[in-house]
Amino acid sequence: MMKFHILTLFPEMVEQGLNTSILGRAIENGLISIEAVNIRDYTENKHGRVDDYTYGGGAGMLMQAQPVYDCHRAVSGGRNVRTIYVTPAGRVFNQGLAQELSMEEELIFLCGHYEGIDERALEAVATDRISIGDYVLTGGELPAMVMVDAVARLVPGVLGNDESASYESFSDGLLEYPQYSRPALWMDKPVPKILLSGDHKRVEEWRHEQAIEVTKRYRPELYEKYSEKINEIKKH
Ligand code: SAM
Repeated sequence: MMKFHILTLFPEMVEQGLNTSILGRAIENGLISIEAVNIRDYTENKHGRVDDYTYGGGAGMLMQAQPVYDCHRAVSGGRNVRTIYVTPAGRVFNQGLAQELSMEEELIFLCGHYEGIDERALEAVATDRISIGDYVLTGGELPAMVMVDAVARLVPGVLGNDESASYESFSDGLLEYPQYSRPALWMDKPVPKILLSGDHKRVEEWRHEQAIEVTKRYRPELYEKYSEKINEIKKH
């Protein structure tokens, strides 16, 4: 079983978002567990405060080191658990990183709020700093949920055969080809004939060509990388 722990000031946000559909089924089947832990429960401040002004000035409040550190200690039990601080000031998440993280048995995600978290706590607990993209959100809960979802669906057994992760965007450096379901004619638009032919080899070729076209159109920089890789393979 792969264990995910999410340290946050808003546990209800994460709990509600991650226990339905495919991940809900995976939790029920004992393939993964997702625990949201409230950082506020660990503050030593008698008024339950977890944030304060930043040294050096500037607007906004910062999450203090003590509650974050103690919450992390309680969850990790002093073990060496890979701990991801979700932050716009980190390397950008992608499918390769999701694959790498899915090899771990346990992961801790640390969600910031307000202006973020005191650097000393981060130095003490974070093994990785990962962003979900070049924009700033109000808190780390959505980024943690994005990463947990992307990682959890790669855990063996989480996706049924019907939802296989083997042929999808990024699995071979290309975006996915267009897909169609019934009816064969909808609003005067027919499904591409080749998909009805039953000729698996030609269908595969068509899908590959389409994947190349889609990637060229929407992600030219990915297509460049893909072409370079193919040219390298051809040379050898
Ligand atoms: N002051 C921080 C900065 O400029 O980098 C931004 C803090 S943001 C308002 C509050 C929290 O949201 C962060 O501590 C982080 O946990 C989370 N967050 C916001 N945008 C994110 C992103 N693109 N990826 C991952 N986490 C993000």
